[in-house]
Amino acid sequence: MPESSDVLPIFAFDNTYAKELTDFAVALAPDAVPTPELVYLNHDLADDLSLNLENTNRDTLAQLFTGQLLPEDATPIAQAYAGHQFGHFNPQLGDGRALILGEIINQEQERYDLCLKGSGRTPFSRGGDGKAAIGPMLREALMCEALTALGIPSTRALAVATTGEDVYRQSVLPGAILTRVASSHIRVGTFEYFACRGEEQRLKQLADYTIARHDPELAGADNPYLAFFQAVLQRQATLIAQWMSMGFIHGVMNTDNMTICGETIDYGPCAFMEAYDPNTVFSSIDYHQRYAYHNQPRIAQWNLSRLGQALLPLIDTNENKAVKHASDILDTFTAYYEHAWLEQMLSKLGLTPNDTPLDDKPLIVSWLTLLEIQQVDFTLAWRYLADAAQGNHEPLDTLFMEKSSLHTWLKQWHERANNEDCDAQTRATAMRNINPWIIPRNHQVEIALAAASDDNNFQPFNQLMNALQQPFKESPNYRAFAEPAPEEFTERYQTFCGT
Ligand code: AMP
Ligand code: MG
Repeated sequence: MPESSDVLPIFAFDNTYAKELTDFAVALAPDAVPTPELVYLNHDLADDLSLNLENTNRDTLAQLFTGQLLPEDATPIAQAYAGHQFGHFNPQLGDGRALILGEIINQEQERYDLCLKGSGRTPFSRGGDGKAAIGPMLREALMCEALTALGIPSTRALAVATTGEDVYRQSVLPGAILTRVASSHIRVGTFEYFACRGEEQRLKQLADYTIARHDPELAGADNPYLAFFQAVLQRQATLIAQWMSMGFIHGVMNTDNMTICGETIDYGPCAFMEAYDPNTVFSSIDYHQRYAYHNQPRIAQWNLSRLGQALLPLIDTNENKAVKHASDILDTFTAYYEHAWLEQMLSKLGLTPNDTPLDDKPLIVSWLTLLEIQQVDFTLAWRYLADAAQGNHEPLDTLFMEKSSLHTWLKQWHERANNEDCDAQTRATAMRNINPWIIPRNHQVEIALAAASDDNNFQPFNQLMNALQQPFKESPNYRAFAEPAPEEFTERYQTFCGT
């Protein structure tokens, strides 16, 4: 049982989920661990959260970020949720290896959950050990911070600490705990949990709580639950369009891994695509390619249909009417997604969407087709287009085997661009601010994780993390991180859930 500390006024907790919602979670303390050691601390995030860690020594931080020292006013809970995993419903998942310590409020009055992932067994652990290995926790830290730097909404990594404990997976691995920060951990699966039990009162309580927390302006709407469904749908449509524009593949878009607040969560088998192929799947357990790159928008809509289903009793007491209302909203997903996708893609092409952005769709599609046919690196192709905007086609040429179709496309693109009142330099700069030079390349991620996990060497991890902080800036020091993985590597590359 961890000590409670009255000497650490670091976190200003205000734990509404634990206090206002009875029987939505189980209260329990993190496990004791032998020798906590801090291996990653996100100072920028600590500043954004208005945490004052400067006067706290490294040992105390290690104790804090493994749950050995509970900050004053922390009320650790494991949240209950259900979820559709690969399309199959599981009525009881819940935090099986995570605890939410509470909600902290920063100087801007923004509220965030502070969560320990890998902190031990909970009543939701089923057969699991409640622990996490260092590799997957560092991987989550790298990926979530990379997405954030790319401008994609995400949960954040505040710290990673090793526990000094062995964790047994295919091999024996060093144990670790990730301190995750999220606008909330409320998931589509949280609503499914109460809906499937027919607990309408709790379902309503959850919906009212979530609306107050994330969409307070909707509380006064004619039908707040319908308006809420629409808001969640719009956030997800935008989020998925952002993933698609950067070549991000989440890998395990189960409904328990989809947040209501619109932040990317639960980085298990996620990875960035290398050469453009819409069918790309990396996850070792995604046998039917359910979560392939090109399926992500469709799956998001399917997950939202599960949320709509869960909300039906709140939307209207007449089930037929409720279904009709929810379906009408669900049908708007495609339009919202398409709109967000077109905007992203046009910005990446250095073009300003006009009143009829659909007119530009063929130009985007023909570009993507070129990349697909010639198996061109997705990230570099976009990046080098910025050079082409300034008349330098050479970097782009090097990526294509067959150049004449590229040149034909470039001619059309230049013609479209010339219709706009924008000089080449300005356009190229704008393109370099949206098309990253650096993404977490899979081979680099694996190098960093192996060094940390196998050799207790965090230097490659720190260097990669630093490089990922400024993905749009070309820096000679980080040239290796901009290079695609060797083809043989990508062909064999598989990712794992990290449980
Ligand atoms: P995930 O694949 O991380 O989204 O997890 C799916 C479910 O499995 C969630 O309920 C997790 O809490 C649970 N889970 C994952 N890993 C473990 C573990 N090592 N011990 C206990 N529960 C786990
Ligand atoms: Mg999960």
